[in-house]
Amino acid sequence: MARARGTGVVSAMTVAVLIIGAGPAGFYTAEALLNRVPDVRIDIVERLPSPFGLVRAGVAPDHQSTKRIADRFGQTAAVSAVRFFGNVEVGRDVTLADVRALYDAVVLAVGAPRDRTLGIPGEDTPGVYGSAAFVGWYNGHPDYHDLDPRPDTETAVVIGNGNVALDIARVLAKSAAEMATSDITDDACSAIANAPLTTIVIAGRRGPLDAKFAPAELREIGQLATCVPVVDGRLIAQATAAETGRDRPAASKNLSLFKQFAGRDSSGWQKQLRFDFYKIPREILGADRVQGIRFESARVDSASVVGTGAFEIQRCGLIIIAIGYRASPIPDLPYDEDRGRLINDDGRIESRLYAVGWAKRGPTGVIGTNKPDGVRCAEQIGADVPAGDKPGRPAFEALLKQRRVQAVTYQDWQRIDAAEIAHARAPAPRRKFTRRDDMLSVIKHPS
Ligand code: NAP
Repeated sequence: MARARGTGVVSAMTVAVLIIGAGPAGFYTAEALLNRVPDVRIDIVERLPSPFGLVRAGVAPDHQSTKRIADRFGQTAAVSAVRFFGNVEVGRDVTLADVRALYDAVVLAVGAPRDRTLGIPGEDTPGVYGSAAFVGWYNGHPDYHDLDPRPDTETAVVIGNGNVALDIARVLAKSAAEMATSDITDDACSAIANAPLTTIVIAGRRGPLDAKFAPAELREIGQLATCVPVVDGRLIAQATAAETGRDRPAASKNLSLFKQFAGRDSSGWQKQLRFDFYKIPREILGADRVQGIRFESARVDSASVVGTGAFEIQRCGLIIIAIGYRASPIPDLPYDEDRGRLINDDGRIESRLYAVGWAKRGPTGVIGTNKPDGVRCAEQIGADVPAGDKPGRPAFEALLKQRRVQAVTYQDWQRIDAAEIAHARAPAPRRKFTRRDDMLSVIKHPS
């Protein structure tokens, strides 16, 4: 946790740091800077009125315990040397060049908000969504307020064998009663609850040993109230240890869970969540609306996925592609197309410009993986900028005023947060505002 070292008092030596992005990577960096760089002042700029990035809009709404990390980030935001500037977008309201001219160091903690795509025919058919959009929709991210994915189908297919795919499949599989303690949006909860969904297929191109599911998350799938996991036992028997280049303890825990699932009686359940392995997506079918997906069967050969030439069609009315994310390229900065991240040397991009989190590493790892990134970045800033010589906050505030940009302060956010909590229907922890204007009106018109 951040020691309340910063007093907010500015000296000639004060190092002014701007962190772009108020998600876990940004907050862990702020915390590390407070602990490691004496006389630092940190401003955190965020394009949404709300802080916490993927903790708010990525972590599944039914995983509230994971979201508690926001309390720790809130303590960092409360330190007087730290200031939150919400509703300010670098690239729209101010440029990166603007802020680099004003701060001693700038940290890009901008995440990886874009979906990776399959690159197959039919991917733009209505009814096909990327995971960022679909998760953003059920988590109340303002960018996806109007997504309206209409899960009015008996069968949904989720492509990918990572934890995001598993989150999506679980949210589709759970009943409204199971989601009552979550902060899923009302629209998403009722759309899913009223959908005629009976089958959720989660399709991986490799086998069960190569699935990237965290065992704890996979175990949860065996404990749902109205949905039974279904696995073809022959696929489990077919999996060989030679296939996995992955975390072996996790793979063997997953394998034993899949074996349990394969032994379950699937009759009499409202929904089934079916794990399909060795399926390469080749074509999405449908014109006005998705009607199915053509898979080619696969085998894993020396860690490569190879098509066998055997094809099958899975009929469905909704497809969610959850095969990973990419950072957004930033004009004039080097970008690694293959890994979907900013090109950097252990976080350093250019002089006094750094990347942390998914923008640095690409979209892998859990929330806590951002902590060492923050520490490393703070060490680098400490070494690269022994004493500050840029004006920082006062000049940034003057620039925002000149551009007529109304920033949301952390105290403003606390009012929005309190309003969300007050609007919740018990036992839900909060009822999220899903539009920027609704958040901003809480600040303009406090009740
Ligand atoms: P991920 O873990 O990298 O999984 C991506 C999945 O997509 C893999 O199964 C991958 O298969 C598959 N894939 C990639 N390209 C494909 C293609 N062309 N066709 C078919 N399948 C393809 O990514 P993620 O699920 O988006 O998760 C991102 C990070 O967030 C991960 O580190 C994850 O653990 C973390 N996360 C954690 C939690 C949690 O702990 N509860 C929750 C959500 C996310 P291959 O293996 O064959 O490449």
